Amino acid sequence: MADADHETARRELVAGLRRRLDVDDRTLAALESVPRHAFVPERLQSRAYADRPLPIGHDQTISAPHMVAVMTDLLDVEAGDRVFEVGTGCGYHAAVVSEVVGPGNVYSVEYVPELAEAARDRLRRLGYDVTVRAGDGRTAFPDEAPFDAAYLTCAPTDGVPDPIVDRVRTGGRIVAPVGRAGAQRLVRLTVGDDGVDRENHGGVRFVPMQ
Ligand code: SAH
Repeated sequence: MADADHETARRELVAGLRRRLDVDDRTLAALESVPRHAFVPERLQSRAYADRPLPIGHDQTISAPHMVAVMTDLLDVEAGDRVFEVGTGCGYHAAVVSEVVGPGNVYSVEYVPELAEAARDRLRRLGYDVTVRAGDGRTAFPDEAPFDAAYLTCAPTDGVPDPIVDRVRTGGRIVAPVGRAGAQRLVRLTVGDDGVDRENHGGVRFVPMQ
């Protein structure tokens, strides 16, 4: 597929999301900017603009575009906000968020070292200034906290681990799938002075957090 065909397919995908989802224009503009086909294995590139998850190797998947749109929107971030991502995967979601908050403001950690390295190279090649580290979301980036927002693209079974909540400033948001396989919910936490506020955003399916 030529670049122009990818661009047309991407525009159609985003037009469909605009009709179906109640999300902000800047979220949709971000999805319209990021070349999703450049984040998936070559043999799957022709399917990059279907609203589907796709395999990215190491038993992991890139989330469906509507899920990336919904989660990015729930983060409620703006240019200049600093964001912590747990689960870089191929780097697509990080690129979308980076379009919203700007260069140098997304910090992402990935458990599988090979995925972390590939995502770091890919993001750099595509011009995204995102900091990627290999490691566990529970211990990454202590030196960069506090963040304005955080999100997980893998699901912890018993709620968002405290060390991740502790990386987010008071008033900041955390968006995450939580729960066992088959019973996961998307939640948004807002960090308060004494405890967190929790909203439910429906059933979802994510890979488990390691
Ligand atoms: N946002 C990604 C989706 C990746 S799937 C994208 O756009 O492609 C979720 C990722 O979370 C997987 O790559 C998995 O390896 C990673 N992961 C699982 N447990 C983790 C942990 N404890 N710390 C960091 N990353 C983790």
